[in-house]
Amino acid sequence: MSANRYLSPEIKEQIRQKANYLCEYCHTSEKWQYVKFTIDHIIPLNQGGGNNRENLALACFHCNRKKSNKIAVIDSETNKEISLFNPRKDNWKEHFIWSKDKLYIIGLTPKGKATVNTLDFNRSRVINIRKADLEINRHPPPEDPIQQE
Ligand SMILES: [Zn+2]
Repeated sequence: MSANRYLSPEIKEQIRQKANYLCEYCHTSEKWQYVKFTIDHIIPLNQGGGNNRENLALACFHCNRKKSNKIAVIDSETNKEISLFNPRKDNWKEHFIWSKDKLYIIGLTPKGKATVNTLDFNRSRVINIRKADLEINRHPPPEDPIQQE
């Protein structure tokens, strides 16, 4: 039996609003995109996740595709399993910070680092978009922490 992925437009809009229209992983703003972001099932339906709000997050196309059905990855240095960042349970600011030049997301914790790598937060194409957005004051999101030194 396949799980029902149907989400009502109302739920989707609630998730968007709650996320401040940012991808809840890489903090790209949906406002300037041509296509709407997707609603990510943090724990995939086929792994027991549900359609409840605690399992839903706004995700840009790239993060959604890179995350796919992963919820954890094996750390190449320690060989230990590390859970990926969960936007409903984890605080973005505890796990990530913008580089001093505001172009790169740096993982502050093992979970943050694993998520930066797995979801490819600093892919070259997005760096160019961040550069352009920075010049016109659209980037980074105003409440995000930025590395000071
Ligand atoms: Zn993203």
